[in-house]
Amino acid sequence: MLQSILEFFGIKKKSKKVNLILFGPPGSGKGTQAKKLEDKFGLIQISTGDLFRYELGNNTPLGQKARTYMDKGQLVPDEVTIGMLKNKIVQFPDVNGFIFDGFPRTIPQANALKNLLLTMGQSVTALIALDVDNEELVTRLLDRGKLSGRADDANESVIRNRLDVYNEETAPVYTFYNEINLAQTIPGKGSIEEINSRLNNLISTFF
Ligand code: AMP
Repeated sequence: MLQSILEFFGIKKKSKKVNLILFGPPGSGKGTQAKKLEDKFGLIQISTGDLFRYELGNNTPLGQKARTYMDKGQLVPDEVTIGMLKNKIVQFPDVNGFIFDGFPRTIPQANALKNLLLTMGQSVTALIALDVDNEELVTRLLDRGKLSGRADDANESVIRNRLDVYNEETAPVYTFYNEINLAQTIPGKGSIEEINSRLNNLISTFF
């Protein structure tokens, strides 16, 4: 309350949070890195893929709807994805910020994120893309599928479809943020620790 009154009179500025988009194709290491960054910087990871898999595991109506798209390697429709993300964000009013992992994947999602953060007096701090070449991604995803049993990682044609969807529908999201000077790319090849230290060095500059 006191903080809001001070903010109203411009005496105390609303604290800016660090909201990062960890960007890159399927298999580029976003999830692995997001978990490490969450611990180091006290941010909350929000992975729309994980949220869908949770719904799917519980066989909810949302999960059933998402499954038809996920199994084919297609994107779940924007209105479903955006609604789910909104419900998640509002559960964390007091965090230092978020790491969005696998979201936004389309321009409408990028616009929705902008508006959503705006209602909370926040904005996207940066988009960080992990750069990994296609053949390495296919190998990584097939290996992951053997361990995790994820249906969409088990089949090479579904994997290639996900990479095509990324190039056609998701890559423009990079341009969207690049045009407002918020996009950065780091090499996503190397050991998990090497990539993590590149990310840590970059992200430390935002605090
Ligand atoms: P991921 O774990 O991020 O690779 O996501 C697995 C699958 O969940 C994707 O292939 C899509 O079917 C779906 N999905 C996850 N995030 C999104 C999103 N932001 N928009 C649409 N579909 C998504």
